[in-house]
Amino acid sequence: MTSNRIFSVVIAGGGTAGWMTAAALSKFILPAGVRVELIESDAIGTVGVGEASIPGIADFNRMLGITEPDFIAATRGSYKLGIEFVDWGAIGERYLHPFGDYGFPMQGEDFHHFWNRARLLGEDHALEAYSMCCMAARAGKFMLPVNDPQSPVSQMRHAYHFDAGLYARFLRQYAEARGVVRHEGRIATVERDGERGAIRALGIDDGPRLEADLFVDCTGFRGLLIGQELGVAYQDWREWLPCDRAIALPSERDETTPPYTRATAREAGWQWRIPLQHRVGNGYVYSSAHTDDERALDVLTRNIEGTPLAEPNHLRFTPGRRDRFWEKNCVAIGLSSGFLEPLESTSIHLIQEGVSKLLALFPRHGISARETARYNAIMADSFDYIRDFLILHYNATRRNDSAFWDHVRTMQIPDSLSQTLELFRENGRFFAHKGDLFTLTSWLAVMVGQGILPKAYSPVADSLASDELARTLRDMRETYAMAASKMPPHDAFIKHVLGKAETQGELA
Ligand SMILES: Cc1cc2nc3c(=O)[nH]c(=O)nc-3n(C[C@H](O)[C@H](O)[C@H](O)COP(=O)(O)OP(=O)(O)OC[C@H]3O[C@@H](n4cnc5c(N)ncnc54)[C@H](O)[C@@H]3O)c2cc1C
Repeated sequence: MTSNRIFSVVIAGGGTAGWMTAAALSKFILPAGVRVELIESDAIGTVGVGEASIPGIADFNRMLGITEPDFIAATRGSYKLGIEFVDWGAIGERYLHPFGDYGFPMQGEDFHHFWNRARLLGEDHALEAYSMCCMAARAGKFMLPVNDPQSPVSQMRHAYHFDAGLYARFLRQYAEARGVVRHEGRIATVERDGERGAIRALGIDDGPRLEADLFVDCTGFRGLLIGQELGVAYQDWREWLPCDRAIALPSERDETTPPYTRATAREAGWQWRIPLQHRVGNGYVYSSAHTDDERALDVLTRNIEGTPLAEPNHLRFTPGRRDRFWEKNCVAIGLSSGFLEPLESTSIHLIQEGVSKLLALFPRHGISARETARYNAIMADSFDYIRDFLILHYNATRRNDSAFWDHVRTMQIPDSLSQTLELFRENGRFFAHKGDLFTLTSWLAVMVGQGILPKAYSPVADSLASDELARTLRDMRETYAMAASKMPPHDAFIKHVLGKAETQGELA
């Protein structure tokens, strides 16, 4: 441990990562007497994409004291019950990956074993029929969960679609109101401490020189501090995740707002569709080794529903992560730390994870090698775990209609993932670890949705007579369908929530 106490933090970059970090530090660290400053460059701008989330973001907002109505109003947000995957297992197939569970455990055993037994007996009802989130999503309905474990509505679980640019502006107001000082301009110089090699100060073009004890690199794909200055290497994961480019193109909103994201597999990648209150976000994520930019743009424009609202935004990236996220006195958060394509909407979650672990390990009394190693191990695990889950989507396919799908279907996958798949194929067994981001529901949705069906099931599922099993499952399906039919339409729910917001729409 060094003896240097931390009295000041400079955040380099003001995209979603920069302002999420600034907002959290303004609430939890600044009041302890730590100065927090942020530098962003309007000329450089932000990546300008990122609209879908997973449920944990509600915890982040709650931690900051931001209410759901204010968030939905400020970011023109909508509710998200899961992701619909179209044409992934094979062209013509579709399934939903919901946030809430399938069915209820029976006789102490996971529900899917009973479903699998019924399937092997000849029942052909998809898992979706036993999911409150799926049934509500398919009906275009939404409501918040009720606090009654007996009710299927207790299984509603949601995230949001939102305008990440508006979210960053909202958090900027929040952070500045609590004392974060913002500087506009390009970081032109980085000064290092000769002895330890730590960062001492950042110099802004025609602006001040900012010294600090701790620096947070939120400069996006450039990784100005962690990569360019400190030289922390980047692991390239294109071997498993070949998509390395994207084109984003928003279009006019639909008459109704579906409460889910859609991800449609295409010849060399996949297309997203994210419905917000005021527009629909669209984009094509593709592999430059399997198509070119012109063809990709053609695929995207041919498949967009609704009139485009802007010029296409072309983006290049390398899927992967840094070897280390915390190096000397610099912590990388956001795209500077790594990037995994938005197939499961995990980037903003990884920012949240980085921020909350930084708070948990904040080095008020000096940076300790043990604590930075812990931070690095936690973040590496998070990235690696999501990587395996994403690879599953590509590898579990029967598509053979393009070089791209041939490649991902036949590629060598990480051992950790093949072991999970083998175990599931045999007897439907799946074991989540405590704290895993994607639990049984998520893995089941994708494995079963893409045609990995277990050959057998837990013996506990034999404890019900087959007619009793059929009756129980039929009752469950009817209960979920009935509950969905009684929910309000998603748009009516958004309107109701907007009525409760203190912040209305456009921000200053
Ligand atoms: C195609 C695509 C789709 C995505 N979709 C999703 C999604 O649906 N869900 C999700 O969770 N995430 C998604 N993401 C990721 C999400 O966009 C990012 O995680 C998020 O926006 C955070 O970006 P950032 O703040 O790290 O970087 P940026 O937005 O790039 O911000 C970088 C900041 O650093 C500043 N900066 C850089 N260099 C300098 C300099 N020299 N001097 C001063 N300032 C500087 C810039 O001005 C800017 O303020 C997507 C990403 C891509 C590429």
